[in-house]
Amino acid sequence: MDIDNCTSWLEIDLGAIRNNIRQLLQISKTNVMAVVKANGYGHGMEQVARAAIQAGATWCGLARLEEAVQLHQAGVNCNLLVMGHTRPSFIREAIARQIHVTVFDAQSAQDYAAQAQAMGIPLHIHVKIDSGMGRLGIFPEEGASFIRWLHTLPGLEIDGVFTHFARADEPSLPTTDQQLDRFCQTLQILEQSGLRPKWVHAANSAATIYFPRARFDLIRAGVATYGLHPSKDAMLPDTFRPAMTWKTRLTSVKRLPAGHGVSYTHRYITSKEELIGATAIGYADGFRRRLGNFALLHGKRVPVVGTV
Ligand SMILES: *Cc1c(COP(=O)(O)O)cnc(C)c1O
Repeated sequence: MDIDNCTSWLEIDLGAIRNNIRQLLQISKTNVMAVVKANGYGHGMEQVARAAIQAGATWCGLARLEEAVQLHQAGVNCNLLVMGHTRPSFIREAIARQIHVTVFDAQSAQDYAAQAQAMGIPLHIHVKIDSGMGRLGIFPEEGASFIRWLHTLPGLEIDGVFTHFARADEPSLPTTDQQLDRFCQTLQILEQSGLRPKWVHAANSAATIYFPRARFDLIRAGVATYGLHPSKDAMLPDTFRPAMTWKTRLTSVKRLPAGHGVSYTHRYITSKEELIGATAIGYADGFRRRLGNFALLHGKRVPVVGTV
């Protein structure tokens, strides 16, 4: 892209993505899924997926089947898991492309199985357990019997079982350990009945770093892949690097006298003569309107003043 003609653009450092995946492999000592849903958290799904695989990720995680199909069509070479629900009318795409899908209800499972059987190709599924998130998933108490029942459906290959944490980015709270305990009860029954699937997974970025016992066979890293801290309480080690930089140009610089208002409602008033720059970014670009933002001007931190 010719940035000479751009007033505002994003720069994505794929070297940072590779670095972050290597950090995750080193910390977790297990397999890494790069979560690249939602256009790679805005970084570009395909490019991020390729960089992550180069660095050693063996899975990509998506929210929707459409995203997985797009990666598969682009020839991205790794296991693909759709973590949201897939409509049965669309499941043929997953079967034909060996895309793994998430299962958490009997009706969809039956529909999927019938179509897989009709096509003569098994569908790879991961069963989701709701250990406390309160969204998708079978409750832990019903998990083992549900999986036992799934095994009676021809056409399905039960490759994984997983859960998702609600508050792993608040590591001092007991919630994540409680969720893990409930998930482990289901796992224990599965193990005793010889039904433990090959891929057990639970950890998002925050849990990967703060809850070692959540790492199991695979971790699912979104924010950490992009070098973003899960929260103030769950910071990444400083070996991680942010991949995205948002750039723009100064389109005006001028001296305003003391007591001069700046921008809408004059919420900022100069206290002395001040040098005020204007940039080619507005809130339509996603720049937050709230006060207290800052920008880097040739690498130096400067406050954003006035309402954006
Ligand atoms: C988005 C998502 C993730 C990634 O979470 P991060 O906090 O960004 O690491 C992991 N698992 C599931 C099921 C998700 O939907």
